[in-house]
Amino acid sequence: MAIHVGYEGDPATKAVAVPIYQTIAFEFDSAEHGAALFNLEVPGNIYTRIGNPTNTILEKRVAALEGGVDALSVSSGMAAIEYAIINIAELGNNIVSLPQLYGATYTLFEHILRKRGVDARFAASDLPEDVEKLIDGNTRAVFCESIGNPAGNVADIEELARVAHKHGVPLVVDNTVATPVLLRPIEYGADVVVHSMTKFMGGHGTTLGGMIVDGGKFPWRRYADKFYMFNRPEPAYHDVVYVDQFGDAAYVARCRTVCQRNTGATLSPFNGFLLLQGIETLSLRVERHVSNARKVAEFLRGHPLVEWVNYTGFPDNPLYPMAQKYLGDQRCSLLTFGVKGGFEGGRKCFNALRLFKRMVNMGDAKSLSCHPASTTHRQLTPQEQRRVGVTPEMIRLSVGIEHIDDILADLAQALEHAKA
Ligand SMILES: *Cc1c(COP(=O)(O)O)cnc(C)c1O
Repeated sequence: MAIHVGYEGDPATKAVAVPIYQTIAFEFDSAEHGAALFNLEVPGNIYTRIGNPTNTILEKRVAALEGGVDALSVSSGMAAIEYAIINIAELGNNIVSLPQLYGATYTLFEHILRKRGVDARFAASDLPEDVEKLIDGNTRAVFCESIGNPAGNVADIEELARVAHKHGVPLVVDNTVATPVLLRPIEYGADVVVHSMTKFMGGHGTTLGGMIVDGGKFPWRRYADKFYMFNRPEPAYHDVVYVDQFGDAAYVARCRTVCQRNTGATLSPFNGFLLLQGIETLSLRVERHVSNARKVAEFLRGHPLVEWVNYTGFPDNPLYPMAQKYLGDQRCSLLTFGVKGGFEGGRKCFNALRLFKRMVNMGDAKSLSCHPASTTHRQLTPQEQRRVGVTPEMIRLSVGIEHIDDILADLAQALEHAKA
């Protein structure tokens, strides 16, 4: 699927690789053809802000990998998360989220959506009952990360979906860290899956992108008052009634034609092409990331200068059972650890890393390291940091696909520096 889905060849040129359709607009055969396209009565391309054939292939491919009915590619993971929410929540509504979140997602919910009148409610823990307590008649989505970044927790998607659906609310899952190779949230009841394509999906640290995958199962018709935007003529787009015209794919169709068309966080077709290149090797890369990470975790755990290692692949890790349920024996290559000597020890080790690049990213083929408290989560108060799963001494590793001997040698020499 990662290599073939969505591309049947370009009839005009017979190009084997997906072409980059670097064009803004697409020609209409006639006024009538243009009208039919705008009315979404016939498939086709209009303007790249709404859709582009290179990106369409990427969308079909990711939708297939996640087991969804359709998808929308956007310019970044953050754009995907914002659209996923504003497509269904507005002034006076609220969303309920697990507390462990990516830094910018937390800020989007806490400071930006809130000022637009969408109240973000963070559950006290990731227990489904703590989420359920916060759901009321104005709730429009439950949100979680399948694997929290950087906390590393694994969400109980099945139970969260059950709780959300009991109250007539869709579950939106950020599957960036897991990727569909490790976990497919739709199979556990998630209704919408969002991605930062920037990370493992693209995989080479070159290309920002986001994706919104529509699982196609949420009964928007049954909750026609709450989700009136899919059930009534849409004034922001030619009075289309999305459930009538798009059936199971109503959610993502509106995301494209209302959210993206009118606010414009569109993926460049060139970036779409690069992301397609990345996805071709996604499963191979993830396999290597996973096996390298396990060896790194074992190495760190056995090292006398390491205080703690948070790796859910260790049976004594409190998150082990949940991780086992959703990931089987595989674990993502994101792990955190603390060097003895507290903040200072951690800082020295971090500064001495040579192969591991010090940066704010993950999911690159290259090994990366990050100190969340001074970077991604810097603008959060210590209290907020704890709430999203960050501690001051914590170093996060995104273990790359280099040879394991080189990776372990770098960690060994950096830890020696910390001792000195
Ligand atoms: C990086 C990341 C995002 C944001 O993605 P961008 O492509 O950088 O906008 C969202 N969620 C998670 C879990 C991430 O790791």
